[in-house]
Amino acid sequence: MAPDEGRAETALLLRKTRFQDLLDHLVQAGYRVIGPTVREGVVTYDEIHRVEQIPRGWVDLQEPGKYRLRYDKNNPFWFSFTPGPISLKRYLFPPTQTLFRVRRDNGRPRAEAVIPDPPRYAFLGVRGCDVRAVAVQDRVYIDRQGQFSDSYYAKARERCLIIAVECQTFADTCFCTSMGSGPQVQSGADLVLTELPDAFVVRSLSDKGQAIVSALELPPAAPEQVAEADQAVREAAGSMERRVDTTDIRNLLLRNLENPRWEEVAKRCIACANCTMVCPTCFCFTVQEVTDLSGENIERRRVQDSCFNPEFSYAFGTIVRQTVSSRYRQWLTHKFATWYDQFGTPGCVGCGRCITWCPVGIDVTEELQAIRNSDGERGASA
Ligand code: SF4
Ligand code: SF4
Repeated sequence: MAPDEGRAETALLLRKTRFQDLLDHLVQAGYRVIGPTVREGVVTYDEIHRVEQIPRGWVDLQEPGKYRLRYDKNNPFWFSFTPGPISLKRYLFPPTQTLFRVRRDNGRPRAEAVIPDPPRYAFLGVRGCDVRAVAVQDRVYIDRQGQFSDSYYAKARERCLIIAVECQTFADTCFCTSMGSGPQVQSGADLVLTELPDAFVVRSLSDKGQAIVSALELPPAAPEQVAEADQAVREAAGSMERRVDTTDIRNLLLRNLENPRWEEVAKRCIACANCTMVCPTCFCFTVQEVTDLSGENIERRRVQDSCFNPEFSYAFGTIVRQTVSSRYRQWLTHKFATWYDQFGTPGCVGCGRCITWCPVGIDVTEELQAIRNSDGERGASA
């Protein structure tokens, strides 16, 4: 399922005038194309069929607790925006999923598994951070030994195609360069597009990607076009200002479990759970049994949940993490410390969504730096 990361790169050229051919070919090949589009004032992912649905010329402004879109009619670029609130998580790990139903049949309960068959998604315009986020979620939901995989997720991943577009602009909230997840995309996607004013340089990283470019019979990109595209991405990477110092970050956090900063951030945090809902890697869920009014049918549903909800830590008749400070600490230390123990990677890809969509503008990078600055101070160490 994983794209062939060892394939030698051959850069091809897709003129913007032929982009509709790409969309049409994906549909003909049986994919449901999910790409960026503007809806309700944000760039979101949705099903698209026409190039006109791509937010060409739109630019996003993101800051802690703020998101705005503006249209620039003189902007020749089609992908001048960074990730909006929705990530691929919505499609690979839907917010609500019915797992099975039980109905009364002649007085006896009859159970029926109803896990749906996932569509063949072609995800278009995926940024480096979100490509990495899928790789992070793969480690959660797919058991490489094949025993304990989440069946829906594993099938959706096996069927899907990922077409990445490398970022050349950043929001104030982005910090992918600190987390090593962008803006360049070296693996995890099937095709990687790098934008020029009138075309895209296209690289295939998998057999599935190769099949697409072969069908489109794309010509090779000229060396100067490849150089121009790569230079634009490199320059953009160098201009990203927001950073996280990840040096020994796991141990830094774990030795600061009693740092007074947790109480300080809890005075601002309203425990709304937005940060976990928009985060492309957060994977917590709860299970609910729902009956209909007749009492004849019951559904078991899996519903996304958040470690910021008090009930999430309910166990043995009590809520374990009663305070907001303990819940914020749980979230941050999981993302940047114990995730390494579980999965060998950080749980953050630097997309910045949790900063933009926090209604009170709490900034994860600022909180991490505050912990680092006070490391070793009286009361900061456990
Ligand atoms: S913790 Fe924040 S910046 Fe990191 S991946 Fe989640 S939403 Fe993005
Ligand atoms: S950090 Fe912000 S987004 Fe997250 S729970 Fe607290 S207030 Fe909500």
